[in-house]
Amino acid sequence: MQGVDLSRRGFLQSVGAGAIGGAAVALCPSSSDAETTDSVTGLTEHVLVYRGSINVGIVRDGGRCLLIDCGDGSVAGALGGLGVASVDQILFTHHHRDQACGAYRFTDRGVKLGVPAGERDWFEKVSAYWSDPKHRWHIYCFHPHHLMLAEPVRVDMGVKDGDVLSWGPAKIRALATPGHTDGSVSYVVEADGKRIVFSGDVIFDQGQVWDIHSLQKGFAKGGQRIGDYHGFLGAVPELIRSLTRLKEVGADVLVPSHGRVMTKPPEAIDALTRRLDVCYDQYVAISALRHYFPRLFSEFEGRKGHMPFAPTKPAPSCLRHIGTSWVIISRDKAAFVIDCGSANVIRALEQLIEKGELRSVEALWVTHYHDDHVEAIVEFQKVFDCPCITDRSVARVITDPPAWRLPCISPNQARVDRATKDGQSWQWREFKMTAYHLPGQTLYHSGLLIEAEERRMFFIGDSFTPSGIDDYCAQNRVWLGRDVGFDRCIALVEQLEPTHLFNCHVDPSWEFTPAQCRFMRENLARRETLFGQLVAWDHANYATDDSWVRCDPYEQQAQAGGKATFDVVVTNHSAEQRAFACRAVLPRAWMKAAADKANKGARSLDWTESSVPAKKEGKVSVAISIPKEVSSGRYVVPIDVRYGSWTLPQFAEAIVVI
Ligand SMILES: [Zn+2]
Ligand SMILES: [Zn+2]
Repeated sequence: MQGVDLSRRGFLQSVGAGAIGGAAVALCPSSSDAETTDSVTGLTEHVLVYRGSINVGIVRDGGRCLLIDCGDGSVAGALGGLGVASVDQILFTHHHRDQACGAYRFTDRGVKLGVPAGERDWFEKVSAYWSDPKHRWHIYCFHPHHLMLAEPVRVDMGVKDGDVLSWGPAKIRALATPGHTDGSVSYVVEADGKRIVFSGDVIFDQGQVWDIHSLQKGFAKGGQRIGDYHGFLGAVPELIRSLTRLKEVGADVLVPSHGRVMTKPPEAIDALTRRLDVCYDQYVAISALRHYFPRLFSEFEGRKGHMPFAPTKPAPSCLRHIGTSWVIISRDKAAFVIDCGSANVIRALEQLIEKGELRSVEALWVTHYHDDHVEAIVEFQKVFDCPCITDRSVARVITDPPAWRLPCISPNQARVDRATKDGQSWQWREFKMTAYHLPGQTLYHSGLLIEAEERRMFFIGDSFTPSGIDDYCAQNRVWLGRDVGFDRCIALVEQLEPTHLFNCHVDPSWEFTPAQCRFMRENLARRETLFGQLVAWDHANYATDDSWVRCDPYEQQAQAGGKATFDVVVTNHSAEQRAFACRAVLPRAWMKAAADKANKGARSLDWTESSVPAKKEGKVSVAISIPKEVSSGRYVVPIDVRYGSWTLPQFAEAIVVI
């Protein structure tokens, strides 16, 4: 894993009042040998970097300093050893929780905060974010990212592009560098004859970014527009413009929030721009989105390595396509319904019954948990008395939505009568049905093969269109790798040889040839390598899957004076076993309540350690005692994570509703 030494010392120091003071200081006169393993690295006489869970910039002037970002706040423990007695102010590059979760420790002591003007609300008004149902249900927008502070902090200054601050021996200029977040800024620090740029998460290291899911963003082209949900890597053009701005600064040193200090900024930036181009090209080459929004991708048409669309054919007469539902009608006029995203489907079925085209509705199959496929299931179940059947992975989500935080999720809790195993078959009228787990468009997705006479009809939910695979929303947990994600789905298509594929949003059917299946799997294998090279982690999936550390249940009701319990579930995308540890961080309001006798006054609970085998899920259980005096409300409980050599403060959260 790269960046191994990055946080070793911060890791040992840990967060909190007990942080070790007097950390060793290594002052390097020139930027060329800026790499040390100590927690503080000097870049010039007055500009230093504290290397904790993130890199924190320290500009010092005698016994006082200014910080750029503060991470978990453990930098406070290192300042004493530098002879720094006070912090004047902190400038933040962006709103992410790992940048700023320690800020309250400084604001409590009167330190002033400057934050990007465009992200000010995501520091000061986070309670409004967390209590707004649109950030919890039917999630189609990913800006701002939910990795934001659990509780608000006071801000003194909004920083805009071009703002200049003279502070002590340094001149600091703000440079708008959006991409990783919409309002990200970089800080150009001129001091001691050097130009040092603190660039947040615009770049991780030469040719690398910290994550990919932050780049999920809507865009418009050729008169067509898509939202964040459809915009995989949609922020890349903005990111590249920011990288170009950074390059033009002519910095001697580039200091990322996550990653290694770069002493050759132009090379580092050019390598990243090239890789982003190559990765985007690979993504577009087999994208299902080309079918829905061809004008967004017209510049790629006919490009070498891009898969031609499969020809379509009409659906057989035993099928009806109503909204996002497919209805299979038997010879004796019974209906088997696939998905129910809208009451219009129920009305249409009732009309078919009135007209005598249908006699009965006998089953409901659910392809996946997205609201446009499940929203009206509860109503359907009131009108039609028939079993609801789906793959186990889908059943887990739709029977208990509060337990999950996923894109397009509906709060409606459905009843599932039969949760199927992969490969389970049964007969319905003249049709043989076989259920599959199909982790394509989302990880929680099913496929249903329906065979009659010479037809092999495969209902693939939203996973494919005639132009390829639907992997355009990273937050859906679309994994790269052999026998997971779309590699597994395409292998299933190769094995089942369906004569017809049916997507819930596409009228005609089509089939993929063996050559097309091979083409897509080769693209995915190549992409696993290319995306792996693009990101900080030792596998691409960590950078796309923003639920690789998640709480189960995500949200729960609890009583004051009672307990909240949940698992922290970690998906190990690496090829080797990984050690991990988690601890919950308690809301500050709970600490104030009765000086929190319940949790012995500690802000964070003890670490719980475990390990997880390669390519598997592991979990640890967390139990929190809720003080009796806590008032009712919605509380965000962040989770500190250590994973292999990474320290990831407040990397996930659980919601506890009192
Ligand atoms: Zn970030
Ligand atoms: Zn869907």
